[in-house]
Amino acid sequence: MPRINDHFLKLKAGYLFPEIGRRVRAFAAANPQAKIIKLGIGDVTEPLPPAAIEAMHKAVDDQSKRETFRGYMDDSQGYDWLRDKIARFDFQQRGCEIDASEIFVSDGAKSDTGNFLDIFRSGHAPGSEGGNVIAVTDPVYPVYVDTNVMEGNTGAANERGEFDGLVYLPMTADNDFTAPIPDKHVDMIYLCLPNNPTGAVLSRLDIAKWVDYARQSGALILFDAAYEAYITEPEIPHSIYEIPGACECAVEFRSYSKTAGFTGTRCGYTVIPKGLTGSAANGSKVELHQLWSRRQNTKFNGVSYIVQRGAEALYSDAGRAQVRELIDFYMENARLMREGLTAAGITVYGGVNAPYLWLRTPNQMTSWAFFDLLLTDCHIVGTPGSGFGKSGEGYLRLSAFNSRANVEEALSRIARRLKV
Ligand SMILES: *Cc1c(COP(=O)(O)O)cnc(C)c1O
Repeated sequence: MPRINDHFLKLKAGYLFPEIGRRVRAFAAANPQAKIIKLGIGDVTEPLPPAAIEAMHKAVDDQSKRETFRGYMDDSQGYDWLRDKIARFDFQQRGCEIDASEIFVSDGAKSDTGNFLDIFRSGHAPGSEGGNVIAVTDPVYPVYVDTNVMEGNTGAANERGEFDGLVYLPMTADNDFTAPIPDKHVDMIYLCLPNNPTGAVLSRLDIAKWVDYARQSGALILFDAAYEAYITEPEIPHSIYEIPGACECAVEFRSYSKTAGFTGTRCGYTVIPKGLTGSAANGSKVELHQLWSRRQNTKFNGVSYIVQRGAEALYSDAGRAQVRELIDFYMENARLMREGLTAAGITVYGGVNAPYLWLRTPNQMTSWAFFDLLLTDCHIVGTPGSGFGKSGEGYLRLSAFNSRANVEEALSRIARRLKV
């Protein structure tokens, strides 16, 4: 019998979303007439921008003719025509010196953030000889934690679900959802900005503090900018490379999932600046770009031609306008939610530069108690903040990914229930 990877047994059994599902199903079974509105899960609701649809239809036709047919790519990194547009529109136009050769197109940011650990030493718990010390924020996007657990980069979880060896950086209203710089050495730090789940962003100055810390201590920042397109305040950086020196200490993950409704279509990319290095056992420096390229070309044959054409079309004049419209639509939902919830007496964070609203639970309720109240009294499903980490206790996440009608209906139910 083959031996399994025992590190998988340390994972908490995907507690959050199954438990939400269980409670929602039980309520729906007991109240079949209730019209439940789901404001919990972070999936988009609106269809793809027409420019992407049109380009993908055309790409399907390309595959039907010998002259335009595309098979394997020479390099899994992605077609030049897509990477050139990414470099130009997402980086160079913002003053970031990112070259198309530093961009790796992928099937999304979830797989890249997880797979990226392949090029680092694993199986050594932090603090042990040669083990990488990993820092995450609390609350956190669970993928960062679970992928490190799978790689054996942590010890076991305690009864609060925290893994031994990981450095947790709390983000609460008390510190304005700004994770503190670690007071000990760490090798890698995950930063998700704009943040899922809190909806918080960091100022240029605060991101610069992370870049300074990383450069001085030799740490690597894994910067997840999946929600950058939702930034509305002009002074907030969209990319970590807007900060001088970031090319020496950070990789950046991007995704078309939330930007352009690609959650089911699948496309994103990762930026690995040339010159960014890690250290080998003998102490020599090795380029991460070269390692990731080797990894991808061994384990990945690239994103479908059709989907890359769809992503490319997002950068056309029409595509950019349609993406803007999509995001403006969700952000108008977010604005209505912020106003409606605030008027109902709830303290709300986020929702200005991100499609997530992070609600303080009323009357010191626990996250799950407020979840139950919203479900039973308003027939609304949120996501308990405690499911994202212990510092999420006392909060609940709502997402602005929904139809306008559902958002308005949800707000009027909450207002009726909470009216004093
Ligand atoms: C949704 C999301 C992603 C995007 O994942 P994809 O695999 O590209 O769909 C990445 N990071 C965070 C924090 C997310 O919430």
